[in-house]
Amino acid sequence: MSEAHRSVPARTPLIDPYGRPITYLRLSVTDRCNMRCAYCASPTITKTSSQQVLSLEELERLATLLIELGIRKIRITGGEPLIRRNVIDLISRIGTHPRLNELALTTNGTLLPRYAEALRRAGVTRINISLDSLEERRFLRRTGTGRLSQVLDGIAAARAAGFERIKLNAVISPGAHELEIPQLAAFAAEHGFDLTFIEQMPIDRDRTHSGHSGHSGHSGHSGHSGHNGDPFVPAQQILQRLTERFTLTPVATDTGGPSRYYQLDNTATLIGLISPRSQHFCDRCNRVRITATGQLIPCLGSAATSDLRALLRATPAMPQRLEKTIRTAIARKPRGHAFDDPPSQCAALPRPMHLTGG
Ligand code: SAM
Repeated sequence: MSEAHRSVPARTPLIDPYGRPITYLRLSVTDRCNMRCAYCASPTITKTSSQQVLSLEELERLATLLIELGIRKIRITGGEPLIRRNVIDLISRIGTHPRLNELALTTNGTLLPRYAEALRRAGVTRINISLDSLEERRFLRRTGTGRLSQVLDGIAAARAAGFERIKLNAVISPGAHELEIPQLAAFAAEHGFDLTFIEQMPIDRDRTHSGHSGHSGHSGHSGHSGHNGDPFVPAQQILQRLTERFTLTPVATDTGGPSRYYQLDNTATLIGLISPRSQHFCDRCNRVRITATGQLIPCLGSAATSDLRALLRATPAMPQRLEKTIRTAIARKPRGHAFDDPPSQCAALPRPMHLTGG
């Protein structure tokens, strides 16, 4: 640690009312995306004005403050973070902070051929790439605009740039999942990637955008239906499908996220399962989110937000008010979410993930 940082007095760590230390920030740099995934995008995707979105300088100030308050891991996300102009400059600046242990990125991969090397030089240590399907047509249907080959090129570019533990994220929805689950696992094992399967969370269309046509509302599926009627494939079913073909050994790996991990056969591939609907993991939650418009979101499943943008832009600057607002928001972090257990604090994501920052 540098002398400069040693001399800064230690601040009270961020701990929520349930004793959970908050050390992980997911920072969204844009709500825009070059894909329109059925379960994520909404019609408002182009409606946020550039004035509403935090500047790179404002994002950096927030990230720096949060690191000073005890955040040790930051994941840059969006929307699609790599479409934000000059995002590499922001990432490089955040990446130099000596108190940050991990700088990660979640991306759809399409722009990695252009940016993978720069991201590595900027200090990004881990990349998660979303890949829901290896079937070209289904991939297009799921993503609205995505070309599978572009994503595969992006994955290859990340590998070529020297990223070692690349993780693929697959949101599994009812439909071709019986085929896709083992297909994705075999692909990950063949290429030495980790792979996390995520239960698809419902979006609250009444509260966000009524009649959102992009949402996948399959019927006649073999998935599970939550109390709010939204079909999903439970993690247990994913696990079962995998064990028909592979040997899965539970491992104790903790990446600071919500996954449970298994080693796949005798390979280096770890399979993760994230089960926000069938099995909550809120007791270990260590994270908060900040949207591209500067709203602090203490819990994915809660509609509560705290506006940091107005305080960031206040003249004269109000650093104490900003810190106090962050602490107050964390003091109100709910014990957990419950997408399917009425009476629940929320029945669905109160806003689509491209606005929240996935
Ligand atoms: N554009 C980047 C990407 O595609 O990874 C980053 C943003 S995206 C919102 C982050 C993650 O959120 C992706 O892995 C995506 O699949 C996931 N996601 C979005 N909506 C979701 C939902 N309704 N349920 C579960 N995961 C979701």
